[in-house]
Amino acid sequence: MKKMYLTKRFHFESAHRMHNSDLSDKENEQYFGKCQSIHGHNYFLEVTVCGLTDITKGYFVNLHELASEINAHIIDVLDHQYLNDVLPDCKNKPVTMEVVSGWIWETLTKKMPNYDIFKIRLWETQDNSVEVYK
Ligand SMILES: [Zn+2]
Repeated sequence: MKKMYLTKRFHFESAHRMHNSDLSDKENEQYFGKCQSIHGHNYFLEVTVCGLTDITKGYFVNLHELASEINAHIIDVLDHQYLNDVLPDCKNKPVTMEVVSGWIWETLTKKMPNYDIFKIRLWETQDNSVEVYK
């Protein structure tokens, strides 16, 4: 049986700000520009898990169970929140999609050890995304 990769997509809306209180006003302006103001995004999160299909069931992952775990650990925590307040040590730091992806990866791999998570991809806009691989 061939190893397969299954991807499920999620959506959440959050606000954030890119500003580092350790930097000067000039540096913040140079690095983050207008993204220093609080603004929001429609984020899309793709989570890819891999495994071997169970012949009896015809699948290797129960999509309902997968979705309820990711909703509980990630979407319910981030949706309609100000990410700088929600993510650890981010109050006065730039909450980039790299930072959000890193937290999502750490959280999922820690809280869902029974899944073989291969990849996540976080879309911040239609054109910009970050991928994190196992
Ligand atoms: Zn932004």
